[in-house]
Amino acid sequence: STTPDPRDFLDVDGQLTDEERDVRDLVRRFAADRLTPNVAQWYEDGSLPAGLAKELGALGLLGMHLTGYGCAGSSATAYGLACRELEAVDSGLRSFVSVQGSLAMFAIHRWGSEEQKQAWLPRMAAGEAIGCFGLTEADAGSDPGSMRTRARRDGTDWVLDGSKMWITNGTLADVAVVWAQTEEGIRGFVVPTDTPGFTANEVHGKLSLRASVTAELVLTGVRLPADAVFPEVVGLRGPLSCLNEARYGIVWGAAGAARACYQAALEYSLSREQFGKPIAAFQLTQRKLADMLVAADRAALVALHLGRLKDSGNLHHTQVSFGKLANVSEALTVARTARSVLGANGITVEYSVMRHAANLETVLTYEGTEEMHALSLGAAVTGIPAFR
Ligand code: FAD
Repeated sequence: STTPDPRDFLDVDGQLTDEERDVRDLVRRFAADRLTPNVAQWYEDGSLPAGLAKELGALGLLGMHLTGYGCAGSSATAYGLACRELEAVDSGLRSFVSVQGSLAMFAIHRWGSEEQKQAWLPRMAAGEAIGCFGLTEADAGSDPGSMRTRARRDGTDWVLDGSKMWITNGTLADVAVVWAQTEEGIRGFVVPTDTPGFTANEVHGKLSLRASVTAELVLTGVRLPADAVFPEVVGLRGPLSCLNEARYGIVWGAAGAARACYQAALEYSLSREQFGKPIAAFQLTQRKLADMLVAADRAALVALHLGRLKDSGNLHHTQVSFGKLANVSEALTVARTARSVLGANGITVEYSVMRHAANLETVLTYEGTEEMHALSLGAAVTGIPAFR
């Protein structure tokens, strides 16, 4: 047997099918040509270029694992690989694709009426319409059931009042999936963002996930027709089903960020010389490289394993919690270690490592904090929920 490739030490990608490898290579090429050369600038600017959604749509990456309505109908594993390659560039890019495909589009695809699907999904798949997903509020984060946004009936219409906070793509969106309290419980609404009474305000001052737009949504007497509501789903089951999809993509994405940081550190340590030799020649550096390699490859294995489970229809949401908890915390450790290997250069936007480390602080928090996923695993193995 040959010496393992330092970039895929356990040959995880050797387990991929030809079709999966094609998806990986397609996204990797797009990343190398279009994303990697520009991401530092986007990060500094705190935005993404307007045309990017259509480019991602043309590649089939928006709602990629959904079927029909102009979506690519890929396997969960292929979708995961796309997330991995995007987040190897920046968590903000993967977030864009997650929010569009796994939160906004998935919500409409899973819970929407036929008319809602026809109206939005083909344009969203093409990147011609952008979606956002409004669950969190300033005072309702880990406990979304305490949300205060309300939808009341007025004749056959619905009228929404309240606000949402930390909403990715909020100011870019053409359509917002908004979750609100009703007399029956929490329900989801498809809200065109040009509806009178809807405003979005960008959140400034972020030190993390800067290559992504985050916003507050304010809904003041937003009047919607009777058919704006998701017809069947009531309760937190609706939004949680969407979050489970997006978290699955994060499991893969975090593996990509970990790989990118480990590789950046490996490359740098081989060329940087101190005390007359490459810093890679010092035992302390090699320990860091070994730890990063183990963590990055383990994350890739977990992602692929969950992908195979999902494709066979056997993935439980607590297993997604396992993956999110394990891979994001490992990726963050790898990013911080890689940052130290790069010394002073490591703190600049010229290199990727501190950008990844800063981004992963958001990834640790959104889509269920690290603590919430630990509690989810705790409840799964003990049978004793400890959330409240
Ligand atoms: P809190 O819930 O206030 O938690 C603060 C701390 O307390 C955490 O460490 C938490 O784990 C801990 N904690 C809370 N409850 C418990 C408990 N019972 N036991 C132990 N510890 C506990 N939301 C959306 O709806 N849509 C989006 O598109 C979106 N995009 C986001 C983008 C960014 C950049 C960020 C930062 C957030 C985004 N969010 C989005 C919001 C995100 O999902 C929330 O931040 C997250 O759910 C945590 O809520 P919180 O920030 O209010 O923290």
